Amino acid sequence: MADVTTTPAVFILLGPPGAGKGTQARMLEETFGLVQLSTGDLLRAAVAAGTEAGKQAKAVMEAGGLVSDEIVLAILKDRMADPDTKRGVILDGFPRTAGQAEALDGLLASTGQRVNSVISMEVEDAPMIARVAGRYTCAACGEGYHDAFKQPATAGVCDKCGGADFKRRADDNAETAGARLTAYHAQTAPLIAYYKGRGVLETVDAMADIASVAGAMQACVKQVLA
Ligand code: ADP
Ligand code: ADP
Ligand code: ZN
Repeated sequence: MADVTTTPAVFILLGPPGAGKGTQARMLEETFGLVQLSTGDLLRAAVAAGTEAGKQAKAVMEAGGLVSDEIVLAILKDRMADPDTKRGVILDGFPRTAGQAEALDGLLASTGQRVNSVISMEVEDAPMIARVAGRYTCAACGEGYHDAFKQPATAGVCDKCGGADFKRRADDNAETAGARLTAYHAQTAPLIAYYKGRGVLETVDAMADIASVAGAMQACVKQVLA
């Protein structure tokens, strides 16, 4: 495994709902010892815990809109202070707006870090609805699956932990997925040009099968961690 030199490396996965950000981030965690920070996961945990932030975020998330920067930034900042992020982080689902990208720069500057690499996962829109609608995860370990594209080796049993309990997200239906795709194009896709201009953008064909995408993602990460 490659060594990170001084400050923790920061990777960003950019892509619409269903692009495979979560799937690939978990694989990169295992391969490189990085930590996945998914603002979606952090927000869902806040909703489940019934915190004040979670209460405010719930309805927005169910409608497929974007939660306020104030809430998202506070949750992310807290998590980035945890000691397990010291090797490096993979941001999944953040930043989602130009304002969040600027806020991230400020947050990183305060700890002497910077965005090392942004991997844009390029996909077509239409197949993303089917990817999102067929998505489910292991309730015990969070491993992601798909009704058609990634089934457990033994039906009903998680490959990773042997768990038999699975769950689906409330917002993973065709209607909300459409709203989330629209939000992605309006507010998040412009970040591709923003990071390209800074010379940190990599692009990966994320329409390929999961293993092929993983190979391309690893190559991007190795450029930074080598
Ligand atoms: P995101 O985090 O970008 O929303 P996920 O990683 O959760 O996307 O993937 C969405 C769904 O599509 C999951 O059910 C996952 O198993 C499946 N999936 C991920 N990558 C691929 C791929 N390259 N080809 C087919 N299905 C995929
Ligand atoms: P996906 O992986 O399918 O793109 P996420 O799990 O990243 O979905 O996000 C689920 C929902 O959580 C979003 O539709 C949005 O309501 C909220 N959310 C997640 N990250 C952010 C963020 N950075 N800014 C605002 N809202 C967010
Ligand atoms: Zn599991």
